[in-house]
Formats: sequence, C-alpha cells, structure tokens
Amino acid sequence: MVFPTILIIFVIQFTQRYLKLAKKDIIILGIESSCDDTSASIIKNEAIYSNVIASQKIHEEYGGVVPELASRAHQQNILPVVDVAIKKANISISDIDAIAFTSGPGLLGSLIVGTSFAKAMALGLNIPIISVNHMHGHVLAHFIDDKDKEKPTFPFICLTVSGGHTQIVLVKDYLEMEVIGTTIDDAAGEAFDKSAKLLGLSYPGGPLIDKMAQSGNPNKYSFTKPKVTGYDYSFSGLKTNILQFLNREKKKDPDFIKNNINDICASIQKTIIDILFDKLIEAVEEHNINEVAIAGGVSANSELRARLVSEGKKREWKTHIPKFEYSTDNAAMIAIAGRYHFLKNDFAKQSISASSRLNI
Ligand code: ADP
Ligand code: MG
Repeated sequence: MVFPTILIIFVIQFTQRYLKLAKKDIIILGIESSCDDTSASIIKNEAIYSNVIASQKIHEEYGGVVPELASRAHQQNILPVVDVAIKKANISISDIDAIAFTSGPGLLGSLIVGTSFAKAMALGLNIPIISVNHMHGHVLAHFIDDKDKEKPTFPFICLTVSGGHTQIVLVKDYLEMEVIGTTIDDAAGEAFDKSAKLLGLSYPGGPLIDKMAQSGNPNKYSFTKPKVTGYDYSFSGLKTNILQFLNREKKKDPDFIKNNINDICASIQKTIIDILFDKLIEAVEEHNINEVAIAGGVSANSELRARLVSEGKKREWKTHIPKFEYSTDNAAMIAIAGRYHFLKNDFAKQSISASSRLNI
C-alpha cells in the first residue's frame, strides 16, 4: 500500500511542477541579503510586482557594516520582508514558480540567511531554487520592464560600481559576462565612504558626499590619480592622499573641513568619477562598443549619471542608467537575473551553499 501511495504523490508533484514550468507567465520571488539590505521582490516575467527593502540603520554608528550585526538583522527582517513582498504583489504564495536568491559574492553570514531561507521555503512549496550572482543582478537590473527606459542590446559594457566592487563588465548575453577591469584594492563605493569618514560624515558617506558636492566647486582641490595598467582601478592611494591633504590644511585652519565641506566633497567626487571614466572610455573605445551602462550603488550618484550622459553625447554612445531604486542593493534585480536562469532551466540543488567570493 505504501509504494503506490508514494508513487501517486510523486506523480502529482511532478505534474504540478511540469505544469508550472510549462505555463507562459513566470512568477519569481527574489531574495537579496548579501550585505546590509534585506530585500524581497515578486516579479511576473520582467515586470516588478513588489520590491521591499529593509535597510539596517545599526551600522551607521560604527562607520561601516559590522558583519555579525548584519546577519542578525537579516534573520529578524527576512520573514516580514518576504511576507510584505508577497502581500504587496497581491499574489498567493502558491503562485510562485521559483525562488531566486543571492548566493554570492558578499558577507558570508548575511548570504547564509537568504540562502537558507530560500532553500527552506522552496522545499516547503515544492518549487525550484535559483542561485544568482549578485553582480549579475546589478547588470541585469537594466532588463526590468520600464516604459520610460529602453533595454540594452548585446554586447554592451557595464560599469558596475558599489561598496564592494568596481568592475568594467563586457556583457555578451544575459548570463554571459566577462570582467575586463576591476579594482586591485578598494571599491569606488569604499572610496566615497572612507573619504566621508575622514570628513566626519556618517556611513554610508557616498550619498552625503553627492548631496554636499552639489553646492561645491569640483575644481577647487586636486588629488592624485592612480597609475594602474589595463582597465584596472585602484582607490586606496586616493584615501591616503585625502588624509594627508586634510591633515596639512587642518594645521593651517582647524575648521578647514567645516569651512570648505562642499568644495572638498565636490573635488573628491570629481576625482573618483574622473578615475572611473578614464578607464571606462578606454575599454569602450578599444572594444568598439557603443552601448554603455552603469550599475551598482554608486551609479545612484548624480554626477556619475550626468557624466555618463555627457560622455555618451560626445562619443555617440547609447547610454543606460538604472532607476534609483534598482541601483543600490535590491531583490528585484535578483529576481530578474533569476528569470534568465529559469528560462534556461538552470536551477540549483538543495545542497548549494552561499559563497562569499563568487566570480561573475
Ligand atoms: P553593496 O556594495 O553591498 O553591493 P550597493 O550596491 O547598495 O551595496 O552599494 C552601496 C554603495 O553605494 C555604498 O558605498 C554607498 O556609499 C554608495 N552610494 C550609494 N548612493 C551613492 C551616491 N549617491 N553617491 C555615491 N555613492 C553612493
Ligand atoms: Mg551591490
């Protein structure tokens, strides 16, 4: 009696899964927990039905992300965030066809929370899981449906700039990408955040520098630019250069930072953007490509966006700028990346584990 029952259950489950995979509309739950944002999103095909993000304020007082605190906060946030994402999307939990989650790169403890949650939930719902590379997610955010925005065509080059990464990516297809340039030390977002810290600003300092720079003179101070071969970047020297500059000026005027904060921010921001664009322009021209995108948290920077538009006009590039909500970490981009894996029947096994270092 036991064997036929197991067989019937197996046939029912198999048929359910087959019918789901064969239907036209695909509903995916995306989960992102690689750093300090817990996010869940529901997408139907390429349309976003919900994208809920719980940011972790706790790190502000420490001047940077504290990994142990981040994992604990993810544990507290993940269930309510996923619950709200499903409710906001106005779907039922049984409508979800697959769960896509960030398996890396990122902070291991943070990644484990999202990965374990996705695996357990998918097991309970008897649906497949999809492992997504966080960096693919940032690039593929450009394929989210948006009536005001044209999607890129392949091949294109994407400058992916965040708190953890700085990459020039040659994007050949949805899941076929090659990193042709990367940072050999700090990331561009780190350069913003560490500079902000030297100025006494809170974490994350990137958005604060952006804001103050808007009323500053970007040509007031100049900082040294790194000399790195190929399309690679380096930002650690800039931090030392800024520190020495501030110490020198503070000796002459103890209130130097307070009196010149807008000009200092504008000058630092211009230096970081100049460094980014020098290599980006070289890479685009040498690869004979005329479509260029930016992605990642730093692509929320207003001056970086403006520079892409002006360089694009000058050089006849077709340019792609993500919406603000899809620049910094979010689960919609993970769900979209998951969709392209889904279309290739590329599902992960329950034995998969998170990986803090994961290549594109
Ligand atoms: P992660 O690095 O964890 O993947 P994000 O992709 O969300 O996270 O990027 C966060 C980084 O983006 C931080 O370093 C932050 O300072 C930076 N950032 C966010 N907004 C801006 C902005 N307007 N200008 C400059 N940097 C910014
Ligand atoms: Mg990111």
